[in-house]
Amino acid sequence: MSFQDTWAICTKCGNKFVFRIEDQRRLSKRGKEITPPPLCPSCQEPGSVGAPAPAGETSSQPEPQELDRGPHEGKVKWYDNDKGYGFIVHPNGEELFFHRTGIAPGETPNFPDDTMVTYCVEQTSKGPQAIEVERMGARN
Ligand SMILES: [Zn+2]
Repeated sequence: MSFQDTWAICTKCGNKFVFRIEDQRRLSKRGKEITPPPLCPSCQEPGSVGAPAPAGETSSQPEPQELDRGPHEGKVKWYDNDKGYGFIVHPNGEELFFHRTGIAPGETPNFPDDTMVTYCVEQTSKGPQAIEVERMGARN
């Protein structure tokens, strides 16, 4: 018995595909009827086409909520006058960088830890940053 490649039509996608000699031989060896499979090779392997979508949570990192400009009240985590920058702890727990240049005009650039301050939030390319940092109650 001789075999040759024949065309078959996929019943799922309707694409023409080759019913190969080796597939025909395999069916013949098993004593089965030599008929083309109903599905083309790509439809026979679901999941082989396209990117496998991993099930479950892909967003393990919670999207940080963008802070509004404010003004806000927070607490200085630390400020290093030599380095010229420090961090403010926002009420939501987020730590905001602030630079010497972000200190309100006229304010002494000396913020011991836990100093309560008011500040505005500026969105920068590096993330939110505190500006117009001012000691609370300093001007009463
Ligand atoms: Zn198909």
